[in-house]
Amino acid sequence: MNDIERCIALFEKKAPLVAMLAPSFPVVYTYPQIVARLKTLGFKAVLEVSAGALKTNEQVIALLKKDPNARFISSPCAGFVRMVRKSYPQLIPYLAFAADSPMIATARMAKEKYPDCQPIFIGPCFAKKLEASEDYPDLNILVLTFKELDAVFEHFSIGEDIDASKATFDIAAAKTRIYPMDGGLTITSGLQGVIKPEEIRIISGYKQIPAVLEEFQKNPKIRFVDVLFCEGGCINGPGIISTLSLDERKKRIQDYQQTMDAAHL
Ligand code: SF4
Repeated sequence: MNDIERCIALFEKKAPLVAMLAPSFPVVYTYPQIVARLKTLGFKAVLEVSAGALKTNEQVIALLKKDPNARFISSPCAGFVRMVRKSYPQLIPYLAFAADSPMIATARMAKEKYPDCQPIFIGPCFAKKLEASEDYPDLNILVLTFKELDAVFEHFSIGEDIDASKATFDIAAAKTRIYPMDGGLTITSGLQGVIKPEEIRIISGYKQIPAVLEEFQKNPKIRFVDVLFCEGGCINGPGIISTLSLDERKKRIQDYQQTMDAAHL
């Protein structure tokens, strides 16, 4: 059984489920229609994973403040974490695992507020399936890519033409909606006010990673590397099917952030 079939089976047996929607969703879906479609599908609640990103930020900042000599490499990117484990095992101690990824932080919120529900993470990334199953099996997260969610929508004939007038996130976060773009963690956490800008490196795209990791190993003054495996960040993840350019995807995220800010949501 694949994850699409697993998800369909859960809905067919009316299992209580919460959806956790990754912050790259505006590249593929419109708000609030996507929330209405997910609720029509049968989700008891729909959570914005940006809320978990806020927790991630708080935990990263706390780690850096706790020890002025501490040095970290960000760990929310499941693809990058797997790259380090395979090719740079000497850097594993630097991964900031004491900070949950936004997916994991949101799943913990879901478990607290909806303890009877299984969390379903919906995002742009296949590597998140490994993060959920290998690193956090206790949270019982089923991970779907946006493409796989489309297959579930199609199975239940839930289209985009839907009344979304009352649809809102059940847990939302206003300040972290640009998280899926490169540098999202650094910018939204205010990291540059905590450590010096020259102590930070921001990088996206797997081809750029080796040079930065080499610099991190040679230069102890670098205290934080904010890294995403996909070029441009999660907005360019492999689970997104889109003909939009990277700039157009970024604009979708920025427009969504601005629209929500204007509505005070
Ligand atoms: S940058 Fe790519 S590999 Fe990393 S979490 Fe985002 S989509 Fe997954």
